[in-house]
Amino acid sequence: MNIKKNITNVRLTLPEGVQLIVVSKTQSNENIQEAYHGGQRIFGENKVQELVLKHESLPSDIEWHMIGHLQSNKVKYIAPFVSLIHSIDSYKLLKEVDKQASKNKRQIKCLLQMHIATEETKFGLSEEELISMLATIGELQHVQIIGLMGMATFTDNTSKVKAEFGTLKTIFEKLKSMNLPKNMVMKELSMGMSGDYAMAIEEGSTMVRIGSSIFGAR
Ligand SMILES: *Cc1c(COP(=O)(O)O)cnc(C)c1O
Repeated sequence: MNIKKNITNVRLTLPEGVQLIVVSKTQSNENIQEAYHGGQRIFGENKVQELVLKHESLPSDIEWHMIGHLQSNKVKYIAPFVSLIHSIDSYKLLKEVDKQASKNKRQIKCLLQMHIATEETKFGLSEEELISMLATIGELQHVQIIGLMGMATFTDNTSKVKAEFGTLKTIFEKLKSMNLPKNMVMKELSMGMSGDYAMAIEEGSTMVRIGSSIFGAR
């Protein structure tokens, strides 16, 4: 695996305005260093413990994104440094992020994770749950919601995947046209992984989360 070359190749396929989040879960510090030396500064992890250890041992100018399911009782470990949490899937979790951000005297940027896949194992909010959160998000002074995240169903059925990304984009646009709390702005749409990011971009993604196309199969 030539990690630097793979990153360059992925970058060449991304339109301007689409950010690359390199998903480094399960990867060694050595592999991450190689990506870093290739110019990559944004990495995504899905486990708190791994994220904390990597943050401690890798260069301090890396922006660490939490992309996996997050338990409220573990927020405190990442609150001092995390750059963006993609996976807010309940109001309870958002409230805890707000509390821990306040303790660390910072603001934490977050995305609301929407449930768009048909698989039951994928986490995320329904549109109704999101709408019902809007009334109270404005009270949380240490979080900034900057967009939405979603994962499509893992399937070869491309029209299904496209439709799911399309659904997320529609919710994103609908929210954009609404009167949102002042700590909420619809700017980023995090959708697309190695297998489906081309489709996600066609449907309006602004952040792609890519692991195996860069590091090889896990
Ligand atoms: C692992 C993971 C990815 C990256 O998946 P690849 O298929 O390796 O690109 C993206 N998003 C989330 C939430 C993940 O857990």
